Amino acid sequence: MSKPDSNAAPSPASNFIRNVIDADLAKGTYAARTWSGRPGPAAAQAGAAKDPARIRTRFPPEPNGYLHIGHAKSICLNFGTAADYGGVCHMRFDDTNPTKEDQEYVDSILDSVRWLGFGWGEHLFYASDYFETLFRFAEAFIEHGLAYVDSITPEQMRELRGTLTEGGKESPYRGRNVAENLDLFRRMRAGEFADGAHVLRLKIDMASPNMNMRDPVIYRIRHAHHHRTGDDWCIYPMYDYTHCISDALENITHSICTLEFEDHRPLYDWVLEKLADFGQLARPLPHQYEFARLNLTYTVLSKRKLIQLVEEKHVQGWDDPRMPTIVGYRRRGYTPESLRLFAERIGVSKENSIIEMTILEDCLRKDLDERAPRATAVLDPVRLVIDNWPEGKVEECDAPVHPHKPELGKRRFPIGRELWIEREDFTETPPKGYFRLFPGNMVRLRYGYVVKCIGCDKDAGGTITAVHCEVMPDSKSGTPGADTYKVKGNIHWVCAEGALDAEVRLYDRLFTVSAPGSGDADYLKQINPDSVRVIRARLEPSLRDAKPEDCFQFERHGYFVADLLDSKPGAPVFNRAVTLKDSWGKN
Ligand code: ATP
Ligand code: MG
Repeated sequence: MSKPDSNAAPSPASNFIRNVIDADLAKGTYAARTWSGRPGPAAAQAGAAKDPARIRTRFPPEPNGYLHIGHAKSICLNFGTAADYGGVCHMRFDDTNPTKEDQEYVDSILDSVRWLGFGWGEHLFYASDYFETLFRFAEAFIEHGLAYVDSITPEQMRELRGTLTEGGKESPYRGRNVAENLDLFRRMRAGEFADGAHVLRLKIDMASPNMNMRDPVIYRIRHAHHHRTGDDWCIYPMYDYTHCISDALENITHSICTLEFEDHRPLYDWVLEKLADFGQLARPLPHQYEFARLNLTYTVLSKRKLIQLVEEKHVQGWDDPRMPTIVGYRRRGYTPESLRLFAERIGVSKENSIIEMTILEDCLRKDLDERAPRATAVLDPVRLVIDNWPEGKVEECDAPVHPHKPELGKRRFPIGRELWIEREDFTETPPKGYFRLFPGNMVRLRYGYVVKCIGCDKDAGGTITAVHCEVMPDSKSGTPGADTYKVKGNIHWVCAEGALDAEVRLYDRLFTVSAPGSGDADYLKQINPDSVRVIRARLEPSLRDAKPEDCFQFERHGYFVADLLDSKPGAPVFNRAVTLKDSWGKN
């Protein structure tokens, strides 16, 4: 077997988008661009003039919600592809809908992209910065007889639009002349008309089999305050018109979006080709490529549904650790590395599919298994008393911080007469194959001593209140002769003295079904009532110093993170990010 070349960088998995880029680079498609005198933002023009062949992608969220794991896929694809080709990815806010957008969303989106590990340098743009250019271009469409002001009602417009199988019909206002259209459009901008009185439409083809080409509306009147342009505008451009022009103004080479925009691509190309014909844009123009959006089992990713979960308080907020938002995953304990690994593993394709949640969980396990320090946590504590251990005597035990990384050293913790163990690690009547504590049986207290169970105490209701054992004094882990004791059970424990009593939140999936809301189902009725269980656990004393966002593997339980918001110095609160796939050891 040949050895991989250890100097070579791991080559990212190929995909159809990379094939397109490779072909464009081979043909020199973009190197031939003429860049002078273009109307776009200075930073984009300067960069393109210096290096015309450079690949330019963009990530264009609308600031009307928090980013979710689907956006993370798009971010990794856009920023990652640009980086692999030595190109740039622009961060662009597609902020054309003033009533739904907000600065709070802008801030959180920037923060999430940065947290995922990507940067945009000086390439931070807003579609709203292009409003003036977009307006001028719309005037150019009118002047060339390719746009008109329409004044029919929304109902009439719907009727005339036709259906998927039947062509549309022309509006009675379609024949307005250039002068009248220009005058009306300028008066729309000047604020002379009420919302909905008029719209500006492209004049393409009402008979087109593609509904997007049936004279799409490109401007509407909306007397609304915009989070960036304030009250400067009362007409706002529509997404399809804005998006392709924004790409062109920024010299984007490959405009990568999700499959539902496939039918919009003819319009994307039509608008840009016409503007190039008018001399407003230079060729070659950007092109749109579509990939399948991410769907994940046990998850909803529609913004509308996520907003509803937050607003109706089914969860505690956008950053609730059960939310599929990037801020939610972050609080849950997911790392940027794990989300990037996930994006890499699922790849990009043109086929819609639903990805198993376990793939995402495995990515987190893989990342944390390699680097999370180990620690002991007793989540359902019951007291264990070592009857032959002298009162007041405390000894030190140690364990590796990480089983495969001796360089990380050892962690130390006390052992004394009274310990906390898991309630399920003791039973009076052991089923077959149970090797943990039951009267007469011996187990090893992991990293400590071998003890023999001699009985238990119960309260009046029959609940066990303490387990009693005797220690084998010559069995301490790591001392000569300790392994002469052959025991099958190996349980974890925390010394009662010095134990940290902390809140731990055991998170599970937010929905009980793999495809919430599918068919006629109401996804709100499919919320998992046990998606979080808050408990008080007893933890290894050193965890007192855990800082917000420190991750640990609690042995036998899973990966946990000190909560970003609720942890206080000396009093961390832990979230379970994910369980262990296999419980360690054989009990
Ligand atoms: P809406 O349609 O409500 O605006 P959106 O999820 O499309 O919601 P955008 O802010 O427009 O939100 O998305 C920004 C970018 O992220 C777009 O390029 C979009 O294609 C991409 N994106 C959104 N959802 C997913 C998803 N589930 N998988 C992959 N990419 C996605
Ligand atoms: Mg969108």
